[in-house]
Order: sequence, then C-alpha cells, then structure tokens
Amino acid sequence: MDGWNQAERLLKRYNIKWKDITIQHGRAVNSVARQIYAPRPVDARSFAIFCHEVGHILGYDEVGSWNFAIEEARSFGLPVGEVKRVIRVYLFQNAPSLLPHFQ
Ligand SMILES: [Zn+2]
Repeated sequence: MDGWNQAERLLKRYNIKWKDITIQHGRAVNSVARQIYAPRPVDARSFAIFCHEVGHILGYDEVGSWNFAIEEARSFGLPVGEVKRVIRVYLFQNAPSLLPHFQ
C-alpha cells in the first residue's frame, strides 16, 4: 500500500504540518509545535510510524499512539491487520515490553 495519500489527509484532519526528515542530515533539532518530523509514508510500516508520531503530537502515550495508528488506518480503510503486524514487528525490535498490549 502507498500510505502517503492517507497521511496527507491525516495531517489535514488534525491540522499538522509535515517536514520530510529524509532531506536533512542528522536529527531535526528545531521542534515546532504541531509539526511532525517523520519519513514520508510509502507502505503500511511507515504509515503506522507516521500515525504514531502524529499520535504523540496529539498527546497520546506510547500505547495510545500505536492504538491511534490502528484506528486511523481503519478510518482510512487501510489494511488494519497489516498495520497491526508491522506494529508488532516494530515493538518486538524496539519496545518488546509493549507487545502484550497488541496481541
Ligand atoms: Zn512513540
């Protein structure tokens, strides 16, 4: 899937500006309120991560931001099972203690 069209609508839905970090060297250091720094979504994995970062901007915690990603994927008619799968893989690699929330 190409998550970019849905990501653009997501940003409009929550009035969030987006900046593509892939054109920058190193980390973004200047954080602007309600501005997201994330790679351009190109598939289920990057769309889930993109939504997760939007969730943080909206004030959700780790678990809440992943649930937000799942709900947003559902609202856009994206393959929720695929999004859940990539979230579990991501958590397995980066935050295994959160896995029980997403079985
Ligand atoms: Zn997070």
